[in-house]
Amino acid sequence: MAMSLDLTDDQTRARVSAVASSRAAPDKPNLINMDRAEMAAALIETGVPEKQARMRVSQLWQWIYVRGHDNFDAMSNLGKDLRLRLAEKFTLARPEIVEEQISDDGTRKWLFRFPARGAGQPVEIETVYIPEEDRGTLCISSQVGCTLTCTFCHTGTQKLVRNLTSEEILMQLIVARERLGDFPGKDAPQGTFVPTGERKVTNIVMMGMGEPLYNFENVKKALLIASDGDGLSLSKRRITLSTSGVVPEIYRTGDEIACMLAISLHATNDELRDEIVPINRKYPIEKLLQACRDYPGVSNARRITFEYVMLKGVNDSLQDAKELVRLLKGIPAKINLIPFNPWPGSRYECSDWDQIEKFADFVNANGYASPIRKPRGRDILAACGQLKSESERMRIKDRQALEALEATRAMVAGHGEA
Ligand code: SAH
Ligand code: SF4
Repeated sequence: MAMSLDLTDDQTRARVSAVASSRAAPDKPNLINMDRAEMAAALIETGVPEKQARMRVSQLWQWIYVRGHDNFDAMSNLGKDLRLRLAEKFTLARPEIVEEQISDDGTRKWLFRFPARGAGQPVEIETVYIPEEDRGTLCISSQVGCTLTCTFCHTGTQKLVRNLTSEEILMQLIVARERLGDFPGKDAPQGTFVPTGERKVTNIVMMGMGEPLYNFENVKKALLIASDGDGLSLSKRRITLSTSGVVPEIYRTGDEIACMLAISLHATNDELRDEIVPINRKYPIEKLLQACRDYPGVSNARRITFEYVMLKGVNDSLQDAKELVRLLKGIPAKINLIPFNPWPGSRYECSDWDQIEKFADFVNANGYASPIRKPRGRDILAACGQLKSESERMRIKDRQALEALEATRAMVAGHGEA
């Protein structure tokens, strides 16, 4: 995708549609919040004989996760009586979609509203879908805001409001699949770019708002349901959890979730990392890398991704590239270079394109794949680190400032995003 300078036009072209909130969740437990054991117990409580519970769970699992149904009425093999009892006690209601935006490059961003929990207010979070020829990646949020304060991250400027529940984490996947026509018998929406394969969402990355390892139990539960072979059945090799480096939970992730791991490294020495990724003060680089070396199943076929945001004059010298190669020696790794995405008020600039390429070439020449992540969906502010909820949505003026900044940067750098 070439980065055009007419961002204002791009933005106008981004289709913005408020989606009706007719399916806002009623006050009943949602079956989507339950793992198999919990669902069996809930069914028994509604009168399903114990002997049948397992079979009923499998049937429900098929309807809910394979076929994407949200209506008990249509579940023909359950028997009318049971369907009525289920509808009385439980729900499969989806969250409200406040906004759906579709970028010129096919990237989609949804703003979801989840109901208040306890004494809190309703919350809003963003989920992003990034289609490519051969894959479609869904970037899922785990928290509203973040307790960490990485200095280059927009989410880091928002205080943690609350953790998302496992239901809310899974719903992002289910509703995205619904909107993309990604359940059997449903057609993909016309007119936007989607991958050519049978599935529209082939991969998920926990790289949206929040630090997933500070919401471990809910993330674990959601990911285990997402990877259950009889349901949504995403392979664990296609699920990547990104962390800023919560070392004890990296060990738990390996043992209890066993998905792919991405580490937001961003600096090659503790002094700089302490500043830009402050959790480093608690878990410094050497401890973090040891957790990576110890991660179960790491091999050349299952490499750890190291994310490295390119900040001009901060971490982008060839000396940094050398240090990076030295640090990662012996770890099967892939290095994702992320051009910094600016946001209003951010104190950094993205490295010059030439410098990013030199950095990438050096790392490549030393044996590490180092793809430069293409910024996607910039016209709808869907890129890494630009996610923030409605409560602090950018004002038009700020957006215009951002666009002007982007246009200037693109012009000066004189590069595309081919
Ligand atoms: N909290 C987790 C996951 C969410 S952030 C983590 O930090 O890993 C997902 C990725 O986007 C991280 O690598 C993060 O460092 C990066 N990121 C954050 N803000 C960014 C920005 N403004 N430009 C580019 N990448 C950014
Ligand atoms: Fe939180 Fe990740 Fe942003 Fe850091 S980069 S503030 S950990 S969301």
